[in-house]
Amino acid sequence: MKIARVETHVCHARMRNWVFVKVVTDQDGLFGWGEATLEWHTRAVVGAVEDIAELVVGEDPTRVEHLWQMMYRQHFWHGHGIVRATAIAGIDLALWDILGKVCGVPCAKLWGGPVRDHVRTYCHLGGGRMEDFYETAADDAKRFADLARQAVADGYTAFKCMAVPPTLPLDGLKPIRTAEAAVAAMRAAVGDGVDIMVDCHARPSPAMGLQFARALEPYGLYFLEEPCWPESVDGLAAINRAVVTPIATGERVTNLAEFQRLFAARACEVCQVDITHCGGLSEARRIAALAEAHRIALAPHNPQGPVSTAASLEFGFSQPSYAICETVTEDVPWRRDVVAEGFTIEPKGRLVKPNSRPGLGITIDETEVKRHPFQQELPQRVFYPDGSVGDW
Ligand SMILES: [Mg+2]
Repeated sequence: MKIARVETHVCHARMRNWVFVKVVTDQDGLFGWGEATLEWHTRAVVGAVEDIAELVVGEDPTRVEHLWQMMYRQHFWHGHGIVRATAIAGIDLALWDILGKVCGVPCAKLWGGPVRDHVRTYCHLGGGRMEDFYETAADDAKRFADLARQAVADGYTAFKCMAVPPTLPLDGLKPIRTAEAAVAAMRAAVGDGVDIMVDCHARPSPAMGLQFARALEPYGLYFLEEPCWPESVDGLAAINRAVVTPIATGERVTNLAEFQRLFAARACEVCQVDITHCGGLSEARRIAALAEAHRIALAPHNPQGPVSTAASLEFGFSQPSYAICETVTEDVPWRRDVVAEGFTIEPKGRLVKPNSRPGLGITIDETEVKRHPFQQELPQRVFYPDGSVGDW
């Protein structure tokens, strides 16, 4: 069996262009799906997939680790830059999908699973509708509370919000009180039985991140995400030491060695590896083993498209330390038209039962994908009141 070709199928989904990667074999009807979505880098990733494809076309697709080593090492530049790591992930996911189909089992079974009966999921406020999640003003505590109640009404037992506004490296008390008011309103709205996560989007400096973490401590967050830049390993570690709230990070960390530095510094309690950005399931499994050694929980970053979700769930059914799966359902109203999924979700509690189909268990409707051709993603840029550049 040989890989005949590698295709990319771009599907514009408002906030992001989903980049689906299809690895086609020379066996009749045998192919695999991966995803390499990277907002604002769509054309670069599509080009990188093309560049990498020349290494793997003609090779046996079932030698997944061997091909991963080729993709990572054989173009001189190691494959951990964000564009190349994402492109490799797209192909790697498709190879695992093929292997599952060849063996006639879901991917989780290839890795010794399932290790649990269901995977718990959480939503973004508004189900991931761009305006609700990214654009609710931090000082609109009532809106946060309304959206929180809606998430619970939709069956979720956990949700994430962006209640921390962009801040200057030092920005005084007001933004701290603003975030606190929003989180207090959500906690009052849903009670203690629902888990709340706050994503700081790595906007704060370590000094401001520490203040946000301390101020939000009384509200019992499930985790506080990216309270400062992921590059500030010492800053993350200081914040993680200063609060009981578990600190989460990792969505922008693309390789095992960088995770090793994070874990060794005890910079987080929750590892948010992104399976579509870290080189795929092959590297994610190594990162998970390392996290396991530090007893750090896994909660993969997954705001992308449906192949990413399927991969994250297969991963969850194979990893003992996997805590919860991030999901987005309302980013575009036609999301469910693009994909048929192998797993089922219980509406009450939003618990996912294992996929019973081979591989990642998904079917992508290519005709539907073609209805949403590439469009430039909307820019999301932050400038501080003094005109200087901030982090989105
Ligand atoms: Mg995040």
